[in-house]
Amino acid sequence: MKANYHTHTFRCMHAQGEDEAFVQAALEGGFGEIGFADHGPWPFPDGFVSRSRMTCPQLPGYIASLQELKRRYADRIRVRIGLESEYYPCYRDHMLREKDAGIEYFILGQHNVEPENVCPYVPSVSRDDEVVLRYADAVVKGICTGLFTYVAHPDLFMGPRRAPEDFTRACEEAADMICQAAREQGMPLEYNLLGLMNEMDGCPRGYPSAPFWEYARKHHNDVILGVDAHIPLALTRFDVWQEGVHRLETLGYNRIEVPVFPD
Ligand SMILES: [Zn+2]
Ligand SMILES: [Zn+2]
Repeated sequence: MKANYHTHTFRCMHAQGEDEAFVQAALEGGFGEIGFADHGPWPFPDGFVSRSRMTCPQLPGYIASLQELKRRYADRIRVRIGLESEYYPCYRDHMLREKDAGIEYFILGQHNVEPENVCPYVPSVSRDDEVVLRYADAVVKGICTGLFTYVAHPDLFMGPRRAPEDFTRACEEAADMICQAAREQGMPLEYNLLGLMNEMDGCPRGYPSAPFWEYARKHHNDVILGVDAHIPLALTRFDVWQEGVHRLETLGYNRIEVPVFPD
């Protein structure tokens, strides 16, 4: 079954389209399951407002809208309700409350090493080897919580490292840390199709990173394709999906369609 568990909504302010348009595009794209994982809100202190995620008061509306679509499309496609979240130890209880409120799963997208009110976006600073290792450490901590279903774009730190020689010893170490932890926890890594689509359309973002995925082969991780859809049309890009399947096959990865979801 073709499935995608990485779909955004307009609430993160950098995605476009009504929630239902994503479900309809998923049907058109031949998906049997669609999971929404919009950028999860954090209760930032001091009135800080993120420009790339929903706010805490928006969460109930997000859940209600997706529950309605889940019901309405139940005979055609399974809709799952998730969030793409970083792991910040200080917000662990907040995530547990999100689960209680109806969030069925989390994918680990560690866009910042620490909350974004005090820490920059990883690709804007990950030319620095030190940042790469701190990123890997944060991802490993997230993996070990057991709160997450899979690791989104584990190679995010390769954003500004586009030349082969940019995959330094620190990058190897980061890849080893993330891949080993994911394997130990039985957690798949995502091959990010937003990055692949951008690459195929002539505006690469540095991930998926060829040297990362080549190097990481030795760890034999399970890998899942994630559309990371920010517009409904991304779900109907058969060329991108096929290229993702082809690359993982060529590299010899075990591609899985459906991860293990929490009960
Ligand atoms: Zn992400
Ligand atoms: Zn995403």
